[in-house]
Amino acid sequence: MNVLFVGSEAIPYAKTGCLADVLGSLPKALGNRNIDVSLVLPLHGIIKQDVEKNIRLISSYDIEIGSRVEKINLFSLFKDGVCIYFIDNHNYFGNRDTLYGHHDDGERYYFFNKAIIKSLSYFYSYPDIIHLNDWQSGFVPYLLRKNNIKIKTLFTIHNLTFQGIFPIELMEYLKEEINDVFILNDQVNFLKTGIMLSDFVTTVSKTYSTEILSAEYGYGLNNILNQKKDKLSGIINGIDYDYYNPKTDEDIYFNFTLNNYVKGKRINKEKLLEEFNIIKQRGPLVSIISRINDIKGFDLLKEIIEELITTYKINFILLGYGDSSTELFFEELHNKYPKSVGVFIGYNEILAKKIYAGSDIFLMPSRFEPCGLSQLISYRYGTIPLVRNTGGLKDTVEPLDFFSLNGDGFMFNNYTAKDLMNKIVEAIKIYKQKDIWNRLIKRGLKNDFSWNNSAISYEKLYRKLIENK
Ligand code: ADP
Repeated sequence: MNVLFVGSEAIPYAKTGCLADVLGSLPKALGNRNIDVSLVLPLHGIIKQDVEKNIRLISSYDIEIGSRVEKINLFSLFKDGVCIYFIDNHNYFGNRDTLYGHHDDGERYYFFNKAIIKSLSYFYSYPDIIHLNDWQSGFVPYLLRKNNIKIKTLFTIHNLTFQGIFPIELMEYLKEEINDVFILNDQVNFLKTGIMLSDFVTTVSKTYSTEILSAEYGYGLNNILNQKKDKLSGIINGIDYDYYNPKTDEDIYFNFTLNNYVKGKRINKEKLLEEFNIIKQRGPLVSIISRINDIKGFDLLKEIIEELITTYKINFILLGYGDSSTELFFEELHNKYPKSVGVFIGYNEILAKKIYAGSDIFLMPSRFEPCGLSQLISYRYGTIPLVRNTGGLKDTVEPLDFFSLNGDGFMFNNYTAKDLMNKIVEAIKIYKQKDIWNRLIKRGLKNDFSWNNSAISYEKLYRKLIENK
């Protein structure tokens, strides 16, 4: 079986969100299952500088866009059993210093989609399945139909809030073929186009695939998704168990395994507190690493954090950036309680790993969460996730059952400060009962959220699609 992934970003080449994590690891995991996997990316300006020496030119050809003709170079590179193709065009990608946010993004990614169709006959092998990802690949199914090419398509939604919406006037090159399918609320919508015309649609967790059918979570696409309901499912993301490995990770203070996790957690916590120049309090070390916005629950956290520090004596660490008034709130919190609270505003992957390894509780009070990776990383480093009952969090966290003592985390239901507070207070009580706490840690360390299981699910779906001619 031959699968071609299409997307706009993948680690280690370009990353703005978790799509890059998925496209950097899922193709590799499928390759390990003897599937012939390739991935096609635009050769963004930021990638070009890094990979130019290692890539090989396959061919160069022209693509028409409106009345203009643009040249592309198709390059390839083999890495970890995956063939990565890069579509190189100077005007649309090579000379831009960011992936998105340009006035002509609609035209740029339509061009990318068109270039893929033309490149099909130049790729080393012809795909049985094209696996599309997010709005940047939304026009591929349309262009396949238009060119009468019969390849099955699977479209994965990683983030429903980014839909690739552009005014029709900006889509000069589409003028003659404008079609109702492309349009939502009088604008061209890439994501809608991809969803409507693909053979099957997935999201990155089962629960999220049902939540998005409602107006609350559907971001204006719930009616479209409801039409597609019988061709929609969810497959949970994994994380890279080699990159996130407490046994070998050179970024954490002290390596550990299931055999010495008590010592490992203790040393990592001591060093982390030192790094932030804070002093161990009676309560647990509660942390959050996140984009800072209200979707991630910061509005709730702001209401209760001070009481947690003063009454329940927790240590608190925040790593993140985003909404500036919330950044300021937490910087002031640090100034007020410098011995209990550590705050780092910014993006820092190494510090993130140190926090995962040194914390007791990891907070994810999200309003919604398509999959969520941080709870999976927390398990891997022996930290207990405390999450809201939504999306991928619901599918990956088993709340502690007080009778059987089974479970691997804590979960609250309603998106209110009161519910979040109650759950944290409950977790603090359990934290003091070391036997139950260690049982939770061990369960998390034993969990397997590597890509293997998800790769098996995708493989099954691909086979079903191919058989359904
Ligand atoms: P989302 O993709 O919605 O931001 P996820 O939980 O799916 O949320 O993934 C977030 C990822 O980004 C996690 O791996 C988390 O550790 C990482 N991350 C978020 N903020 C930061 C930061 N400021 N510094 C380092 N890593 C971060």
